[in-house]
Amino acid sequence: MSRFKVYVTDYEYETLQNEKNEIAKINADFIPVQCRTEDDVIRLAGDADALLVQYAPISARVLDALHNLKIVVRYGVGVDCVDLGAATRHGVYVCNVPDYGVEEVSTHAVTMVLACVRKLTLLSDSVKARKWDYKLAKPIHRTGTLTLGIAGFGRIPKAVAQKAKAFGFSIIAYDPYVDAATMQEYGVRKVDLDTLLKTSDVVSVHVPLTKDTAHLFNKAAFEKMKDSAFLVNTSRGPLVDEQDLVAALKAGKLAGAALDVCEKEPLPEASELRRLGNVILTPHAAWYSEEAQNDLQRKAAEEVTRVLRNEKPRCCVNIKV
Ligand code: NAD
Repeated sequence: MSRFKVYVTDYEYETLQNEKNEIAKINADFIPVQCRTEDDVIRLAGDADALLVQYAPISARVLDALHNLKIVVRYGVGVDCVDLGAATRHGVYVCNVPDYGVEEVSTHAVTMVLACVRKLTLLSDSVKARKWDYKLAKPIHRTGTLTLGIAGFGRIPKAVAQKAKAFGFSIIAYDPYVDAATMQEYGVRKVDLDTLLKTSDVVSVHVPLTKDTAHLFNKAAFEKMKDSAFLVNTSRGPLVDEQDLVAALKAGKLAGAALDVCEKEPLPEASELRRLGNVILTPHAAWYSEEAQNDLQRKAAEEVTRVLRNEKPRCCVNIKV
């Protein structure tokens, strides 16, 4: 009889072969299910020793109900779908995979920054609408004259800074937990949030989503930004108040936005963001490349087998190992 039950609570991948191969190395059943709600997780994965989670809510209620649970691994970096406090109280490791897609997300963010400042979609849409006139995009400024403001200075934005440097941007960053000397190593000047908002021509958001950072980018923040500035978000949708963003864009209080993530995913059909010409939208795709997906699935499963073999997890975010 198998000792352990390893569940995948939800996934969008075509195959789970990497996970299957890894879990086969230990004495465990591997059980993929598709959960959307807390009740789904409790009903479908109630006897789990380990959970591999894409977006399913691993709330205090779920953690109270799963008595055998030892480890939750989030497929990705953000662990906002897991109640970390409740997991810690239950002695459950919460792990992420912080290093599978730094290259992809940073490239996606820089692509969005450049698409905004070069007004790429406006120009492309106008040519498709049979207008051949670069002046429709006026004004566009040389990237060497622009300031890129980075909110959050973890792994991904460090790579963003290195890539954006090549285009000549002056780069400033806001992160209360990273010192000025570390930022300096990346050619970045440390500033407070107010200065970031007031000075930047593009703000690229990389702050993790927590109770304190939800709606950090709201009406008050947009009012501080330049009317000519762009907002890029490749972190988490709820960091931005979408209603306030739509209002700011419509009122000309911002020049445009590029969003890989939104408050509710998939973005509701009725969202006004879909209808604004100066908004670029991608479907939470920044992390994706074939190579990143392969690394993510393998590394997530390896974390499970490590813990079920009584070894130390590699990337635990809630318990000091
Ligand atoms: P990281 O864990 O390396 O760094 C997070 C940084 O945020 C840290 O430096 C921390 O000091 C800082 N921070 C914490 N609270 C802050 C606050 N209140 N204000 C400003 N800074 C704060 O994370 P990372 O690898 O750089 O990833 C950043 C985010 O990107 C993740 O939280 C995740 O949600 C998101 N992400 C999105 C995708 C995607 O496909 N769109 C993929 C991977 C990660």
